[in-house]
Amino acid sequence: MADRTDTFGRLLVNDLLPDEHKVTGPISKKSFYKMLDTMSRETPDAYVRIVPELKRLGDSLATTEGLSVGLDDITPDYKDRNETLAPFITRFDAAKTDKARSQIAEEAHGKMQDVAMRHKGTMTMQVQSGARGNPTQYTSIVASPTSARDGKGNTEPWLIRRSHSEGLSSADNWVAGNEAILNTISTYTAVSEPGELAKILVSNMSDIIVTEDDCGTTNGVFMAALSPSVLDRYLAKEVGGFKHNTLITSLNQSKLAKISSTILVRSPMTCEAGDGVCQKCQGLNEKGSTHDIGTNVGVRAAQAMAEPLTQFALGAKHGARTIKDDRIKVKGVQGFRQIIESPQQFVNKATLAQLNGTVERITPAPQGGHYVVIGGQQHYVTPNLAVTVKVGTVVQAGDAVSQGIPKPDEVVRLKGLGIGRQYIVDTLAGLYKDQGRELDQRHFELLAKGELNYVRVLKDPSRNFVPGDVVSYNVLRRELKKGTKVMPVDDANGETLGKAYFHFYTGTRVTPQIQAYLKQQGVKEVIIAPRAPEVEFIMKAATRAPLLNPDWMARLSHRNLKNTIMQATHFGESSDIHGSHPVPAYITGVEFGQGTKGKY
Ligand SMILES: [Zn+2]
Repeated sequence: MADRTDTFGRLLVNDLLPDEHKVTGPISKKSFYKMLDTMSRETPDAYVRIVPELKRLGDSLATTEGLSVGLDDITPDYKDRNETLAPFITRFDAAKTDKARSQIAEEAHGKMQDVAMRHKGTMTMQVQSGARGNPTQYTSIVASPTSARDGKGNTEPWLIRRSHSEGLSSADNWVAGNEAILNTISTYTAVSEPGELAKILVSNMSDIIVTEDDCGTTNGVFMAALSPSVLDRYLAKEVGGFKHNTLITSLNQSKLAKISSTILVRSPMTCEAGDGVCQKCQGLNEKGSTHDIGTNVGVRAAQAMAEPLTQFALGAKHGARTIKDDRIKVKGVQGFRQIIESPQQFVNKATLAQLNGTVERITPAPQGGHYVVIGGQQHYVTPNLAVTVKVGTVVQAGDAVSQGIPKPDEVVRLKGLGIGRQYIVDTLAGLYKDQGRELDQRHFELLAKGELNYVRVLKDPSRNFVPGDVVSYNVLRRELKKGTKVMPVDDANGETLGKAYFHFYTGTRVTPQIQAYLKQQGVKEVIIAPRAPEVEFIMKAATRAPLLNPDWMARLSHRNLKNTIMQATHFGESSDIHGSHPVPAYITGVEFGQGTKGKY
């Protein structure tokens, strides 16, 4: 941000703040919120005292000083605007195709935004700080919109040369009209898709309740010790002098980071509670206290993730139109849907190695694109994506060999549930962050736990399962626990894990790569399940996963009600009205809330 003299305002604000939280540099909405957040955690007493004082300061300034917008504030800086626009006008007038004209109009838009941010008016700082207004609309007022979209959302081959404050020409107005109509319509329709997604999320997560204080796991997920995501969680493995189950706070975080840059922390994803999640794996809530037994953390997380989706949908039309090519990034509501549903038609799908091996050949494909040959098997890469490996590169199953977005269900199938869950968490956290919404990462972890929770039985020598059965990971875990054996890691090749180690979940077949990884992490002996069925980890679309719940009344909270009732009747299915899913308890009504361990 520009170096502006906001000294007087900063002086007034800093006057109220304790020394350790004084602000330096320009104050933006984002940095200020962050400071308040830190203060609320580190010095909660000061926080409750200071926030009302800050509000009083704001109120008094708004009353005594006021802030009005004069004509100077919205009059374009004609010289700057016209000089910046001139080369684009020359190019536009010389352009031969509509495509070139559209592109020039888009390019000009980026430059106009710079002009707007240099504007001397008082609104510039408001927009820059994030307090009020958005850059695209402000640019249209004090510089020029330059480009407008047609009814399909594509850029019109037209260069708007005047600003809204001067008034558009008749031709400009004609062109910009479509965009105005499109915006009005999308404001009404955009909220319907996030609404649907909110319901889907709730259906996938509504049985994740806090059921016990400590499941006792020593497993967790690796995180950077300095990441804000480790705060309010418990250590899964001791680090230096810090024991297992040490609560990580802003006070001990830097000490931990000095000992080890990555730490293993407890996570809902690796919780071993029979149902739901335990207090220790969930960590503290936003108020800094333990979640009560029975808290439905799943539904809370679903709502926290759903709320910004509406903003993403509405924001899409106001967003700055830049020509930066980020097509192969997961973005917005569509990107969110693509990740949780993993549809057949997956836009910009990266090609993943289907087996461990070495890249033997890369040849152009006759239909366009490339073939990457690994272990004699051809992997097709589409023409719009570049190959990212070379001949001789050693790859493991599930590694990307091209640009693009890995399809989540392929990641789960090739790399297992642990890495699949982590992939979804990282991708979704990144998607929200790109839109300026940094959510508590545990929300995504709960979604990954709720949705990516199934395995398909391929073979079962002990005949507890029928081949082809899809069972929940919890059921498999319980079954495998029954007859386990301890053996040295060195002897475990080909055996099935009877317990989760890091991202290698119960049911994983041990390979030489896994042996090497475990030894590197200091694991010497592993618990294996000698009579385990052979399973495949699978991911079902978020719209389908809730239908795999064996509790038929719980399934009634989702879709396909007729099928659910027919299937329940045919197979004599049962339902637990004191289980971890709230719907069977709601439906029956009687004895609601009388379940044990926080259940309904
Ligand atoms: Zn746990």
